[in-house]
Amino acid sequence: MPTRHDDTSSPEAKPSLNAVRERIHTRNAGDHDFLQAVDEVFESLEPLVAQEPEWLDDALLDRICEPERQVVFRVPWTDDAGRVHVNRGFRVQFSSALGPYKGGLRFHPTVTLDTVKFLAFEQTFKNALTGLGLGSGKGGSDFDPKGKSDAEIMRFSQSFMTELWRHLGDETDVPAGDIGVGGREIGYLFGQYKRLRNRHESGVLTGKSPSWGGLDVRTQATGYGVAYFAETMMDARGGTLHSATCVVSGSGNVAIYAIEKLQAFGATVVACSDSSGSVIDPDGIDVAWLREVKEVRRERLDAYAAERPAASYRPGEGVWDVACDAAFPCATQNELGEEDARMLVANGVRCVAEGANMPCTPEAVHVFQEAGVAFAPGKAANAGGVAASGLEMRQNAARERWSFERNDEQLRALMADIHHASASAAARLGRPNDLVLGANVAGFERVAEATRALGVV
Ligand code: GLU
Repeated sequence: MPTRHDDTSSPEAKPSLNAVRERIHTRNAGDHDFLQAVDEVFESLEPLVAQEPEWLDDALLDRICEPERQVVFRVPWTDDAGRVHVNRGFRVQFSSALGPYKGGLRFHPTVTLDTVKFLAFEQTFKNALTGLGLGSGKGGSDFDPKGKSDAEIMRFSQSFMTELWRHLGDETDVPAGDIGVGGREIGYLFGQYKRLRNRHESGVLTGKSPSWGGLDVRTQATGYGVAYFAETMMDARGGTLHSATCVVSGSGNVAIYAIEKLQAFGATVVACSDSSGSVIDPDGIDVAWLREVKEVRRERLDAYAAERPAASYRPGEGVWDVACDAAFPCATQNELGEEDARMLVANGVRCVAEGANMPCTPEAVHVFQEAGVAFAPGKAANAGGVAASGLEMRQNAARERWSFERNDEQLRALMADIHHASASAAARLGRPNDLVLGANVAGFERVAEATRALGVV
């Protein structure tokens, strides 16, 4: 029998974790990505709730799984030929228990309210793990930036902000980039916000250029952070990434800087990919050339292989069949399935760290865990981006400009702290190597304690 939405708590009996889960499924029926993310967290909460059943009181879990606010809006814009287009814009303000809503904007044709809600939910725990006083949110649009001119990107970004600005503020909601939103888009979005508000409110967006308020290292932070986290995780288990053969999926901002840092650690990254295919470069990916192809020329990976004699381009192929010691899914959600995981395990993978948000399906994660692969979940491993955003907000509030070296050092320390918090929570629950459990529980406890302390609001 379906559960009534308003029947969230009963004074007579504690609801079971499963009853709460079912209620959330009923309320969000059809939101596949969101429910996948919720289920993963609930699986981790089982051992916690078994020890501390008071987490089931006061509909606390229902409140944590329901966004505080969801905004959906029209984004009309005109292309270079004068034709009018309409896209849909979203901002899901999930939790402000720990600080202002915080999370990126994604511009991609597949974006729906479900996508944004799942990302904002993940952000809740990720941001809590940083310990920097950040609430959670996410936004975006089904706009496709591919093939658009610079002027079209600017007009779209301005139209998007013309609606979104009223929901933002440096103490209210602070967006940043995500897929399809980088430094260029953040510039146009900030310019329009500044014009509409008549305030140079630096801290309202992060991921700005360091020349006008951005944090030096924010661009690199997610990718570097993934490498720092993976190295810390391997070190804790008596291993290292030094001289490891690695594969990285994607070739966007996260992938590029993960590759750069892994190679600085002495690893060789032999493959990466984009939506058109993958390249294998046995000598190691040339990061400078990859950046030129993807960020400056904005071309596909065949252009990378064309100038590198040892490299081969594989149209329509991914990277998970390439033998490696360590794999870094840095593209998008559900990009690595059960079969891919089995192939990686059969080829000897020892470490998997998620640079993207929820790139491994639940089945794939179970394959890695059963095979004893060191697995770093995205909530912890890719938190370096938002952690650097938290530092950017501090830098803006202090009206200072900090050095790359100082910021990079802080980022590295933050990633070690996140690993420590996750590993400690996992150990406390008797599964010391299960960082999925540890990251979910450590993030949950922080946000749940704050949510409870603030009362029923
Ligand atoms: N979009 C990034 C993430 O998934 C960064 C968010 C931010 O810096 O606010 O964590």
